[in-house]
Amino acid sequence: MESQLRNLVIDAIFPRFCASCHKEGSLWCVVCKEIWSFKPLAPACGFCHREGSEVTCLSCKSTTYLDGLTAFGPYANPVIRSMLHSWKYIGDRDAEPVLQQWLYRDADRLGPPMLPFHIVPVPLHEKRKRVRGFDQAYVLATWIEKMYGLPILPLLKRSIHTTPQAKVSGDQRRLGELDQIFSIDPEYKDFVPKHILLCDDVFTSGATMDAGARILKESGAETVWGFVIARGK
Ligand SMILES: [Zn+2]
Ligand SMILES: [Zn+2]
Repeated sequence: MESQLRNLVIDAIFPRFCASCHKEGSLWCVVCKEIWSFKPLAPACGFCHREGSEVTCLSCKSTTYLDGLTAFGPYANPVIRSMLHSWKYIGDRDAEPVLQQWLYRDADRLGPPMLPFHIVPVPLHEKRKRVRGFDQAYVLATWIEKMYGLPILPLLKRSIHTTPQAKVSGDQRRLGELDQIFSIDPEYKDFVPKHILLCDDVFTSGATMDAGARILKESGAETVWGFVIARGK
């Protein structure tokens, strides 16, 4: 309800422009919906971008917990970045059917490894969720659930309020600094599955997602694979 009201306010105040051709009217015009395409990312290590495989490379593996990362596209792509910006920072839920359509169209390419995964969204802090009106990682989890028929298990809780990842420069945020931001929801503490698909909208330094992977592995998970809409490079 709060979110519907927010979209009415966005409708009234902000004119919408197509994320690709900038035509006024909507976030995604009918023409771009038909013709837009982009060069997908080469499979690479999510942390150092070494190409070859989506599995975390051996040198990054020694300091991280995430086993691999599937990403729809590069955060550097202006159309993808603009759509995510409208969704996350303006809170415009008109971006959702567009993002969902992008993912569904590429569902085969984006298929995670064949493991009996449970989807775990990287949770937003409650305070930020109240401001934004929705939790984008949970919304993404519902799309992945439909794409691959995997169950959602919202077993992570966020404890410390952090600055949105995209607004913090790489220097300010390093791997390992965020170890305390997540905990396992006590309701699920005896049911941490073996294989987890951890999802979030954006992966830049990877510090947030890796902090989630760490607590999940320390609580019994064997595989933690990441799934994001956009990653660095
Ligand atoms: Zn357009
Ligand atoms: Zn690497």
